[in-house]
Amino acid sequence: MGKRFDTMMFPGGKSKAFTLSYDDGVVQDRRLAELLRGYGLKCTFNLGSGVLGHTDIARAPGRKEIDVSKVSPQEVPEVYRSHEIAGHGLYHSALDTVGTPLVAYEITEDKRALEGIAGKPLKMFAYPFGFFNEDVKQLLRLAGYQGARTVKSTYDFKLPEDFLEWNPTCHHKDEKLMELARQFVEGFSFGPMLFYVWGHAYEFDGDDNWDVIEKLAEYMAGHADTVWFATNGEIIDYVNAYRRLEYSVDGSMIFNPSAVDVTIRTAWETAVLKAGACTAIAPTPL
Ligand SMILES: [Zn+2]
Repeated sequence: MGKRFDTMMFPGGKSKAFTLSYDDGVVQDRRLAELLRGYGLKCTFNLGSGVLGHTDIARAPGRKEIDVSKVSPQEVPEVYRSHEIAGHGLYHSALDTVGTPLVAYEITEDKRALEGIAGKPLKMFAYPFGFFNEDVKQLLRLAGYQGARTVKSTYDFKLPEDFLEWNPTCHHKDEKLMELARQFVEGFSFGPMLFYVWGHAYEFDGDDNWDVIEKLAEYMAGHADTVWFATNGEIIDYVNAYRRLEYSVDGSMIFNPSAVDVTIRTAWETAVLKAGACTAIAPTPL
């Protein structure tokens, strides 16, 4: 067969993926979800089911008051259609400081309630305030979560080593946002690249800067030919499907046991490995 390598490509043979993650289930999500949908973008929305429907105003000295009311449980399926619904803890408690039984309850009761609304098992979680420890991670794992977002910016485009400690590229308020977007779109890497932006939709009201997300969305949508737009959960499903590939000893056959088509690039070809099928890979000239 000769010397071999392969690398994961995203669907359509694209080497780049863009995902978003917005927290708290606030009423401004209605506008954000619609805006992103209009550009064909995908976002993971992290909701605390215990506070859905609550009315609230954020007041801070020297700052304007912001409506941080939450969407109602009844409107969740409509507001978030085409996006992903994810967990954020029942009451948005700091999970690294409360007792483990309460952490287990906050995680599982939130997941149970949201799954009842979403009509499917949840994959993703976002740590309230970004706080977590090993016990919190383990409880998420036991509850069936596959990924959890932190609030730590990486300023890079790597896929996480551990999805339960998924550091985003940056917050939308970061002054480097558009510079990073450009680096991502224009940059080259042999392996897959991921651009991950997070925030809270109420910040656009508070900072009076909806143009920030509009500009980013428009720019990214202009590169749909080279960038895959996916929710956090779709990225996890895809990476898991790639990791489950079964290779013959001589590398001439790859079996894809998952329900997701997987695209890989070898030294000589881009191959689509159909779900549930075995694909022959061309021998590599020496
Ligand atoms: Zn939050």
